[in-house]
Amino acid sequence: MPYKKLPGYYPDQDECQPGEELKDYLETIYPLKPSRTFDEMDNDLRADGELTSIIYESSILYVLRRLVATTEHFYRVSGENKIATNIALRSYLRNYTRYSDEQVNKLSKLLLPCMETARDAFSEGDKNTAKQQRRMYQWSCFVCGKEMDDSNIPTADHFWPRGMGGLSNSGNLRMVCQICNNNHKRDNINHADYHYEEIAISATDYKHYKGSGHPKVHEVAVFAKSKYQCVVCNEPAYRVGELTIGRIDLKDGWHYLNLAAFCLKHKPE
Ligand SMILES: [Zn+2]
Ligand SMILES: [Zn+2]
Repeated sequence: MPYKKLPGYYPDQDECQPGEELKDYLETIYPLKPSRTFDEMDNDLRADGELTSIIYESSILYVLRRLVATTEHFYRVSGENKIATNIALRSYLRNYTRYSDEQVNKLSKLLLPCMETARDAFSEGDKNTAKQQRRMYQWSCFVCGKEMDDSNIPTADHFWPRGMGGLSNSGNLRMVCQICNNNHKRDNINHADYHYEEIAISATDYKHYKGSGHPKVHEVAVFAKSKYQCVVCNEPAYRVGELTIGRIDLKDGWHYLNLAAFCLKHKPE
């Protein structure tokens, strides 16, 4: 295994998952270049590059999924034969895309492991160690920071989804509450996967964001965007405790680009 195994269950994310390696490589094939259309929109929204980066990230992730799905297709039609999958994938990439030979080589090398991770699961040993560690340090949910108990039980979540090249090992395991696990979903890699245009609400609806009535999936998207930590003290949710959604600019409305996660101590207003 070329992937480094880290000692803790909450590492600083320096372990590279196969899917992450693929994403990094796609970003070298398609580097972010200035686009007049998106830059103008970003400017007019005073988004400071955030809109452009969401559009870019989301498109890279779409390409990643498309390539993994294509690989899975060849795997299925070949009767789950890895060698035949590799041959079919390479010939597809060579004949139907503009990738160079070097890119075809590298992509096929990265894609096969991404397809295989979907069939794995965490071992009971890894899950038990993570549970013990969580209890020992009294860590709360990795995503929302809420305490976990019998009514909202701790569950083992793949931080990088296994369907997209996330390994089933301790480096990719996060203990999250059951509600967040259901809303984090195996196919959401990062905040660019959520539909930001849905996470904008009308002025009359804003109270939803202040109470607990807003859709949990929107909350998870904002937490993901803030890297599951408070944007003021940068303390991660699992240590600082419950996160809440607040506006970055108090003179602006309740829309995705103006929302971030705050710990209860640094909550604005
Ligand atoms: Zn949670
Ligand atoms: Zn804070």
